[in-house]
Amino acid sequence: MNTSKRNCDRFSEIEVILRCDPGERGIAGLFLSGELEASCRSLLDAKRVVIFTGFFIPSAGRLETDGPPGALALRDALHKRGVEVRFVFDRACSSLVYAGLEPYWIDGPKLENQLREFAPTHLIAIERLGRAADGKYYTMRAIDNSADTAPLDRFFFERPTAECATIGVGDGGNEIGMGKVHDRVVETVKNGATIASTVVTDHLIVAGVSNWGAWGIAAGLSILSGVNLLPTDAEAEEHLARVVAAGAVDGVSGKQNCLSVDGFDCDEHVEILRRLRAVVERGLTDF
Ligand code: MG
Ligand code: MG
Repeated sequence: MNTSKRNCDRFSEIEVILRCDPGERGIAGLFLSGELEASCRSLLDAKRVVIFTGFFIPSAGRLETDGPPGALALRDALHKRGVEVRFVFDRACSSLVYAGLEPYWIDGPKLENQLREFAPTHLIAIERLGRAADGKYYTMRAIDNSADTAPLDRFFFERPTAECATIGVGDGGNEIGMGKVHDRVVETVKNGATIASTVVTDHLIVAGVSNWGAWGIAAGLSILSGVNLLPTDAEAEEHLARVVAAGAVDGVSGKQNCLSVDGFDCDEHVEILRRLRAVVERGLTDF
């Protein structure tokens, strides 16, 4: 079997894992096969990446645990490839600095220049709200979250440089990138007509939990580069613990001070990571 066919099989295996839908949101209908491999092939040439993350939950008065742990794992993977990484989050999520999401920029008047000067090769959004058709930002329950969401998605419309590639990672339909499957979100996701994001990215990674999508990118880059770039189980737990210590709560259950994401405890997430690692290990023997 040739290398490209084997790679294709490995990416299909990763997609099957990411397609697990623990929240029963109907994400299988949003899935675009081949997007993960295209994202990873693009990232093979990455030099400077900006990761946008952080989702503030108004009812909890805190940010949620999905997004930033995946962002930390992806930063570490990109660092191993010599890529420079910056984080961007909004003021409502500024406690992420205590979770180690550094170096970072916060939305404000300087941000546009900071991005232009950095000249990113890629922008990646992980569990970051994208505006709906009415210009507002909505939670999955169709609660208007606009007051606590800076319009960071504007950089995905007006890229800092013309050559900059964009990747969105989401798990519900209201995130940056889901504009690529807008009509499907309207048709298949509860509250879809209200919440569906209009923000299109070059590539869209759909996953049962957005942190898994970030791991999926790290797994895909591992397959293509021949180096395991995934976090260990302990590192993944530490990423989540750091984000929880910085004040994040489970976005589904609302639980505080608890290693939980989207209603599932850390062990269940680590099980997904182990499955991804098994695919990567098979992929590395293909080299
Ligand atoms: Mg989501
Ligand atoms: Mg989520």
